[in-house]
Amino acid sequence: MNTEDVIIVGGGPVGLFMGICLHYHGIPCTIIEKRKEVISDSRSLGIHPASLEIFERLGIVDEFLENGVRVKRGIAHDGKKEIGTIDFEVCPSPYQYILINPQFETERILRDQFLKLNPDSIITGAEAVAMTEEFDFVTLTINKDGKEEHLEVGYVIGCDGKNSFIRKAAGIAFTGKRYPDSYIMGDFADTTNYDNDAVVYLTKEGLVECFPLPKNQRRWVVKTEEYISDPTPELLTHLIKERVSEEINIGTNSMVSSFGVSHFLADTFIKERILLVGDAAHVVSPIGGQGMNLGWLDAWHLANVMSFCRGISKDLPIADLFVYEAKQRPIAKKVTRRAAFNMSLGRKTSLHSFRTSLVRSMLKKPFHNKMAQLFTMRGLESWWV
Ligand SMILES: Cc1cc2nc3c(=O)[nH]c(=O)nc-3n(C[C@H](O)[C@H](O)[C@H](O)COP(=O)(O)OP(=O)(O)OC[C@H]3O[C@@H](n4cnc5c(N)ncnc54)[C@H](O)[C@@H]3O)c2cc1C
Repeated sequence: MNTEDVIIVGGGPVGLFMGICLHYHGIPCTIIEKRKEVISDSRSLGIHPASLEIFERLGIVDEFLENGVRVKRGIAHDGKKEIGTIDFEVCPSPYQYILINPQFETERILRDQFLKLNPDSIITGAEAVAMTEEFDFVTLTINKDGKEEHLEVGYVIGCDGKNSFIRKAAGIAFTGKRYPDSYIMGDFADTTNYDNDAVVYLTKEGLVECFPLPKNQRRWVVKTEEYISDPTPELLTHLIKERVSEEINIGTNSMVSSFGVSHFLADTFIKERILLVGDAAHVVSPIGGQGMNLGWLDAWHLANVMSFCRGISKDLPIADLFVYEAKQRPIAKKVTRRAAFNMSLGRKTSLHSFRTSLVRSMLKKPFHNKMAQLFTMRGLESWWV
C-alpha cells in the first residue's frame, strides 16, 4: 500500500461511514472487517437530523429516507396517563424527525454506498491482530483465513468498536464505568395505536419505551432490576403488561435480547498515526440512542480535518490533526452527560409524582424546544449543556 493511504479497521456503521467521508474528500482508504457478513442483530435504530444533513451533503440520504420510519413526536407517559409530548417538528427543516432504521439495514446501505465509490476496498473476514508504528508509517498485521499479511500504511483509523484492538495496541487508556442499569428489548408486530410516535413510559417500577419500526413492527425496551442473561419474549411481554397494560402478541416476536450500559472515553483520540473514531473512542449509554450518530459526527469532522491537512502536506501534519480531538472529545463528554440524564429519568423511584411533575414542566414552554434540541443531538457545540 501507499504510505499516504489510510486503513480503517472495523466496517461497522461508523467505519463504513468514515470510508464514505474520506472518499468524498478524495482520500484513498481500505476497510478491514473481521466479519464476513453484515450483522443480523439489531441494536441501534435512531438516525438524528444532524446525521441526515451530512448524509444529504454526501448524496446518500435518499435510500435511508425510503427505508426508515419518521418519528415526528415523542410521548411521555406515566403508565396510566400521558404526561406530555415532544414535537420534533419544531426542529429546523427539512429533517424535523428522528429516522428509525434497524442497524443491519443502516449497515447494508452504508456498505453498498461505500462499495459503489470504492469497489474492492473492503477486505472482509480479515482481523487486525498486530500493529507497530514506525516514524513515517504504520505496519498493520491482518489475519485472513489463517494467513497473516503485513500492510504498511500512513494512518490507521480504529473504528473497531468498544473493545477496540487498535486502541489497546496503541496503548490508549479507556476510562469510565458500567452503570447499574440493565434492560431487555424485543421486536413485535405493532398492535398499539401509536402509529409513528415513540413512547417513553416513566413508571414507578422503571422505564418502558417503544419505537415504531419499518414493516409495522415495534421495538419495546424495558428496564430490569438486574441483568437477565436468558431473556424471553414471555418475560418481556409480562413486564410490559404489568407496567403499562399493553397486550403484546407474543407470537409475533422476532428478536429479544438484554443489554447492560456503560460509559467510557479514550484518554486521547490520536496517537501519532493512529486515530480513534466511534465506539473505539467513546461509549455512551444507548438510552437516548446517540452512540452511532456521535461516531458519524466524529467521522465527518475527522475527514474534514484530514482533507484540510492534506492541502498543506500529503504527509498529514499530525499536530494539526489534534483539531479533531479538540472538537470531538468535549462533544463526546456532553453526549455522555445527556445520555446519563435520559437514563436517570427512567429509573425506579419513590419520587414518582415529583418526577412526573418535573417531566410535565420540561415538556412545556419555555423548555419544550430545548428538550426537542436535546433529544435530536442539537446544540452539541454550545458550552451550556
Ligand atoms: C441496545 C442498543 C441500542 C442502541 N441504539 C442506538 C441508537 O438508536 N442510535 C445510536 O446512535 N446508537 C445506538 N446504539 C449505539 C450503537 O450501536 C454504537 O454506538 C455503534 O454500533 C458504534 O458503531 P462502531 O462502528 O463504532 O462500532 P461497532 O458497531 O462495534 O463496529 C465495530 C466493527 O469493527 C469490527 N472489528 C472489531 N475488531 C476488529 C479487528 N480487530 N479487525 C477487524 N475488524 C474488527 C467488528 O466486527 C465490527 O463490525 C445502541 C447500542 C445498543 C447496545
